[in-house]
Order: sequence, then C-alpha cells, then structure tokens
Amino acid sequence: MQSAAGKTGRSRPLEFSGRLNRAGRSEMAELIRYFLEEASPEEISDLAFCAETLREKYYGKSVYFRGLIEFSSYCKNDCYYCGLQRSNSKARRYRLSEEEIVGRCALGRRLGFRTFVLQSGEDMYFTDERLCRIVSRIKTLFPDCAVTLSIGERSRDSYRRLYDAGADRYLLRHETADEAHYRKLHAPEMSLRNRMQCLYDLKEIGYQVGAGFMVDSPYQTCETLAEDFLFLRELQPEMVGIGPFIPHKDTRFADYYHPAAERTVILLALVRCLLPKVLLPATTALGTIDPFGREKGFRAGANVVMPNLSPPERRREYSLYDHKICTGDEAAECFQRLAGRIRKAGFVPDFSRGDPAGWRPRARRN
Ligand code: SF4
Repeated sequence: MQSAAGKTGRSRPLEFSGRLNRAGRSEMAELIRYFLEEASPEEISDLAFCAETLREKYYGKSVYFRGLIEFSSYCKNDCYYCGLQRSNSKARRYRLSEEEIVGRCALGRRLGFRTFVLQSGEDMYFTDERLCRIVSRIKTLFPDCAVTLSIGERSRDSYRRLYDAGADRYLLRHETADEAHYRKLHAPEMSLRNRMQCLYDLKEIGYQVGAGFMVDSPYQTCETLAEDFLFLRELQPEMVGIGPFIPHKDTRFADYYHPAAERTVILLALVRCLLPKVLLPATTALGTIDPFGREKGFRAGANVVMPNLSPPERRREYSLYDHKICTGDEAAECFQRLAGRIRKAGFVPDFSRGDPAGWRPRARRN
C-alpha cells in the first residue's frame, strides 16, 4: 500500500479527487478501509485539508441554511432502522395542515431562510394534488425561496408534476447501493432498483438531487461503502446527505453499536473529494452523537445545515432515531445559536438559496 501522502497528497487535492474518480471497486473499498481503520491523525488531517480546499474553491467559507419542516410522521414503509416505520405501533403520528406548513415557511422567511425542506414519511394522504397546491402556494408567497422535497419514492409522473408546480430540489437518500445490504435493512416489498430509478428520474426531470447513506448502519462494510461511492459517482447528485446511524429504541436494531463521529467525518471528507461541487450537510445526527460534530463536519468539507422549523410540540414525534438534538427549542433560538457556532468555528452563515456551483435550472411546464 502506498504512503498516505500518496493517498491524499496534501498539496494536490485535485489529484486525489481524480484518483477517487478513477478508482475501481476494490481500490475504492481499500481506500475507504484505509482511512477508516489505519490512517494516522496526520493522514486524516491531510484528507480534511483536501476536502476543505475543494469546498473553498467552489463555495468559500459559506455554510448554507435550510429550514426543515417535518410535516407528516405517517409512513407506509418498513425500513427496519427507522422509528417511523409503519410496524412501530408506539410511534406518535401527526400531520401538519396546509396552513401550518405555509405558516412555518412564513416564519422561516422572516428569520431569513431562503430554502424550505418539506420532509415526511411516505404518507399517501399527501396526494399530488395536495402537494402541488402547497408547493405552488409557497413559491407564490416567497418567490425568492427554493423548495426542497424529501417525501420518498413516487412515480415519475408525480415527480414531474411537483417540479412543474415549483419544487426545486429533492432529497432521497439511497441508504445503501449494495443489493444484499439493502435487503437486510428493508422490508421485502421495497426495492433498491426502484429507489435508484427514482433518483435518475428526478435528475432527468431537472431537480437538484440529493442522495446519501447512513454511516455504520447494521451490516455495512467497506465494500458496501465502495458501492455507495461508485453509485454517487455515476449519479452525480447535487447534494449528498450522510450521517451516523443512530439506533431507535423501538426498532430491531435498538441495541446496535453507537457510532463515533470520526467515521462520519472521514466519509464526509471523502465524499467532498469525490464530488467537489456537492452540497454536503453537517447533519443533525452528527451533532447528536458529538457536541462538536457539526463543526468537525465543516472542517472536513461540509457546507450545509438544516435547522428545524417544525412546530416544537411536533418535533419529538418525528422520531427517526433516538436522542435527536434541538427537539424542544423554538426555531429562532436554535438557529441563532447555530449561526453563532458557525461564526465561532471560522465559517460564514449564508442565508441565500445556496444553489450548487454552476447550476443552470431547467424549464418547467406551466
Ligand atoms: S426511512 Fe423514510 S421511508 Fe423508511 S420508514 Fe422511515 S420515514 Fe418511512
């Protein structure tokens, strides 16, 4: 195995990026394994330097704010790791009304947000008609804002209608690109092939697309992670959401190993090096397992945060995993504190729409 300097090349981030973009399956798995298991602190710091250099080339020190609105905790799926899975009879279910959703966007707009992320389980109550009406109301009221949807797998036609109604971005984590691994985490009726097809459809329609995966999910290996990296390289998403797997007490993985932030931080840096222009959140899950997790993420190439704009009384009920931070705060408090921490860490809170570097929007049908 060549030296770590040869792996990252502190002074040559573009070359390291090129290496990741050429690596075959086994070399990718070996690089991931090396950084997760063998690399010295100096080598990890070289990797973070590469990631920061690439992030700064396209985005400077900006950390973009997205306001997250969790509008329904109903879900028709059984993802075995998730507290909202339909088989979890202890989950508290709620739906926000259309007025409440638009009202949280209005609050966010007053606080300065220019992106709203509407997230839910796969809740069929929210038909295309209802969702298109909500999206188009938000875009009419706040035309300078971007709307991101994170509402799971739908038909291509549905994605098209939502795009034409004004949705700009779509987050759909693929969770794992390895078929055998996917089968161990999801109910038999769910399909990795369909999930991947959804991502390709979204991209083809014109959305800014976010894929992503959990770090240290049950049965994950360096080989399954290599599949994730190869899939991301092929898809070329505009956003990648990766965060540590945190077990939920009412799932079959309740007693599963609790991860360390360091592994997520290393993978964030590797994703930044693989896709230099990507928008990369330092997730709430990362901030949950380590009080300085998000700051560590920024220093490894992350450049997005998604503070919660959901009504405080609902946040505990949107329980994907246990011990989530900021579940009780008012949006304004949480967001001021986060902006202060970002400044203190040497970065710049940025409330613009934060589109991907070089983004050109595609036409919508009226
Ligand atoms: S991960 Fe998403 S789709 Fe799966 S059970 Fe949870 S909310 Fe539903």
